[in-house]
Order: sequence, then structure tokens, then C-alpha cells
Amino acid sequence: MPAKTGKQYIERVDKAQANIWIDGKQVTGNISEHPAFRGVMKTQSELYELQFHPDKHDYMTYESPTTGDRVNTSFIQPRTKEDLEKRRMMMTEWARYNNGMMGRSPDYINVGIMAYGSAAEMFGMQDKMFAENMRKYYEYCRENDLSLTHTLILPQVNRAVSSSQLPDPYIAARIVKKTEDGVVIRGARLLATQGGVTDEIMVFPSTLLKQSDDDNPYAFAFSIPNNTPGLKFICRESFDYGKSSFDHPLGSRFEEMDTIVVFDDVTVPWDRIFALGDVEVCNKTYVESNAQVHMTHQVVCKNVAKTEFVLGLLHLMVEMINIGHFQHIHEKMSEVIVALEAMKAFLTASEANAKVDKWGIMTPDFAPLNAARNYFPKVYPRLTEIMQIFGASGLMAIPNQADFESELRPDLDKYLQAANGSAYERVRLYRLAWDVCMSSFGSRQTLYERFFFGDPVRMAGALYNGYNKKPYVDRVIEFLNRYN
Ligand SMILES: Cc1cc2nc3c(=O)[nH]c(=O)nc-3n(C[C@H](O)[C@H](O)[C@H](O)COP(=O)(O)OP(=O)(O)OC[C@H]3O[C@@H](n4cnc5c(N)ncnc54)[C@H](O)[C@@H]3O)c2cc1C
Repeated sequence: MPAKTGKQYIERVDKAQANIWIDGKQVTGNISEHPAFRGVMKTQSELYELQFHPDKHDYMTYESPTTGDRVNTSFIQPRTKEDLEKRRMMMTEWARYNNGMMGRSPDYINVGIMAYGSAAEMFGMQDKMFAENMRKYYEYCRENDLSLTHTLILPQVNRAVSSSQLPDPYIAARIVKKTEDGVVIRGARLLATQGGVTDEIMVFPSTLLKQSDDDNPYAFAFSIPNNTPGLKFICRESFDYGKSSFDHPLGSRFEEMDTIVVFDDVTVPWDRIFALGDVEVCNKTYVESNAQVHMTHQVVCKNVAKTEFVLGLLHLMVEMINIGHFQHIHEKMSEVIVALEAMKAFLTASEANAKVDKWGIMTPDFAPLNAARNYFPKVYPRLTEIMQIFGASGLMAIPNQADFESELRPDLDKYLQAANGSAYERVRLYRLAWDVCMSSFGSRQTLYERFFFGDPVRMAGALYNGYNKKPYVDRVIEFLNRYN
């Protein structure tokens, strides 16, 4: 089947009727019509529609090597730098459409699945069947344009001990038993963003697993449909308040939802298992497959688009109330420009220095991408801080659409006018800024950028420990010894 349309995306997720809970109630009926999910599902369907845009079809899709159908470019196994460039164009198209506000547009997991599928052999270390499962699953996702959520993290009960040492061994999702039909899993994982609004869930190893035999029952990798019996998604409260795009410009369109995933004795069929019961194997998958590199490539494309959007928005705010002549505004705008140029440079360098990896895949250079994934969680909160500083009380003087449609209009038109725009234009712009840097949607974006790719402290540790410092150390030693 070729790349899917937006309509097909909605129909499939609606039909699945997965077990999703929000505000103490189970979602019944079409999830695409539920107020908490309507906005994001509409946007996601628009992303899928972009695959068929006549001017974009060529780079949004490519020819499947098995069926010849046009399939989504985020599934491509890049063999050349041109393939990487094409994939970047595709991912940038989606990222610009949502202005980097949808961290889990489907390309994020698609590139990971591609990497796992290309490194399928690695999953055969334990059992050849797992390698075959992984290879076939990648093809299945590609050919059916599957959308996936994923969950890696174990519940945050007591980070000083491993899951096997918690008061109940089944708090963190754990293998219960193996049967003829598959492997039975009980317990919880977090935090699946887009939990209810995809076709399937990828449950992959957490790299937090300790190297101990007691933790082997927590080590597994598999994917299953979201409507698998026993699987339950528990949502946080929605940050889409059902308001108009004037009132809540981002939350009404891009609220992805985060979910706790509960496995009530879920049977995972054998053909969907990729790794099982071996911490050592599980802890290797992410790095050795280069999934982390390809996923970071997607993340940096998204964050370039996000920084571009923030820059544009800040500049419009500066012009709207005429604050562009103040020196500190120049200084802060230049901080944002530096952030954007740095992110673009990381991306360009990663592609320029790409090499074919041991799986035959053209793989971006990880060093600049690793720098980017360590840099952005620190700089994004600063970008939103700058927006608060520029906005000041303007971020609170933001009446909503109902106010503008009421008898208050003459007051609003008079008192909220701006140097370079009407009251309506000014409030529309400042409501957008509020949704980036103040609203619950905006605060969640900041938390997301801090944590979604892992704990920044441990990512910094990985960068420090993995970075080849020797050439620089050697140079200093050579200098110290130069006159001996
Ligand atoms: C908005 C959002 C969306 C997310 N979406 C997803 C998703 O779709 N799928 C998914 O799998 N995950 C998702 N995550 C989870 C994300 O991967 C984790 O937040 C991240 O890995 C950190 O883990 P944690 O939240 O369990 O924090 P913890 O590991 O519990 O850390 C809490 C604090 O303790 C410190 N700490 C804990 N252990 C150590 C240690 N060993 N060394 C040093 N410091 C330590 C941390 O630095 C941190 O300050 C999401 C997170 C957020 C916030």
C-alpha cells in the first residue's frame, strides 16, 4: 500500500478503538472527534496529506524497494548523501508545518524503525527469529505507513534502586510468562506521547536498565497495535481547551498528549518480539543500530524549524510595539540568531560528514548532532524566557475572541492598539507568544525540550565520556614538551 492519506490515518485510528482514558473516563466513539484529540489528529492528517502535494510529492515520498509504491521518505534507507538530503527536506516540510511544536510527528519513530530494521541482524544475537521479526516489521511499517508512539521509561518510583528492587516487581512492565502465543507483559511504562492517536506502540528497552540478572525480566523490545487486549493508555489532562485558533493558536492544533501505558497481562505475539530477557542485548540496541543518530537527525530538523519560528515571532513582537531601538533587544535577538545558526550548522555538518555505517546505511556524523541534542535543551528555555522579557504585560493583556466579538470591542480597539498593528492584530500575535512561552501548552513544550530525548545530565555524561578528547590533549602535551 502506498503512503496513506490524512483520511486513511483518521479512519484507521478511529477504527482501532484503543483503550484510552482521560479525566477518569474511557474514550468511546471516534477518538478523532474527542475534544482532547480532535486538533492534533486533524493536524496529523494534514501532515499525511502533504505527501500528495504535487510540488512536494517527489521528496515527501520515494519508491518502495519491494513494491514500487511511493512510500514516505522518512522510511528511506539512505545509501547516499543525496538520500539524506531528501529525507531532511521531507522532515523539514513536516516540521515547518507544525513549527516544531509536534515533537512526535510520525517521522521521529519512522527513522528509528528504519535504523532498527537495517540493523536487524543485531537483534539476531539472541535468536535469529528476532532479526527476521525486526526486518519484517520495518517493511510492514513502511508499506503501511504506520504511525507509532513509543515508550522507553520505567515508572519514577525510586531512582536509587532498579525495578526488580521496587516493593512490587510488576510496577515497571515485566515479563510474566512465555506461552505458545507469545510473551505476557504486566506493569507500566511511560511516557508515550501521542499515546492514543497512532496505530501502534513501540516498546523498546530503557537504557536505564542495570546489568543484573534480576533485571532481565524488564528487558524487551516489541511493537503491538494500540488496541491489543490488556493495553491501556492513561492521559494527562488535555492542554487543548477546545478554543479557537485565535484564542489558543498552538494548543488547539498541536496538543500531542502524553500517556502512561499500562500492560494488564498483554500477550505480545512472537512475531512482534525483537529482543527478550537480556539486559545486555537490550542496552546495546539504540546505539549500535544507529537509531539514536537517525532520530537525532530528525530532532535537529524539527528544532531548526522551531527556532526559525521563535525568531520570526520575536521579531514581529519587536516591530509591533516598536522596541527595536533598545540595545538589550538587539543583544537578545542576536542570542536567538546565534541559536538558529548553530542548529543549522550542526545539521549541515552532520550531513557533510556522513558515512556509510556497518549496516550499509548512510549515517549522519553523530558528533555535531550530539552537540545539538545537548545544546537545545539548554537554549530553548532561554528562547522562551526572551519571549517573556519582550512580551512583558502584553502577554497578559490578551482578551480572547469572545471579548473581541462583544460590546467591549471599542475599548479593546482603543487601548490595545499598537504602533504597528490594530488591537486585533496585536492580541492575535501576543496570544501566539503566550502559547509558546506561558500557557500550559507552552510550558509543556519547554519541559519536553528539556527531557524528551533523555535526562540532560546523563546525555551530557554520554557526550563527555564518548567524546574523543585525545587529539586535543596530545596537542597540549606536545606544546608543554616543546622546549624540553
Ligand atoms: C513532555 C515529555 C514527553 C515525553 N515523551 C516520551 C515518549 O513519547 N516516550 C518515552 O519513552 N519517553 C518520553 N518522555 C520521557 C523522557 O524520556 C524522560 O523524561 C527522560 O528520559 C528522563 O527520565 P525521567 O523523566 O524518568 O526522569 P528521572 O530519570 O526520574 O530523573 C528525575 C531527576 O533525577 C535525576 N536523576 C535520576 N537518575 C539519575 C542518575 N542516574 N544520574 C543523575 N541524575 C539522575 C535527573 O537528572 C532528573 O533531574 C517524555 C518526557 C516528557 C517530559
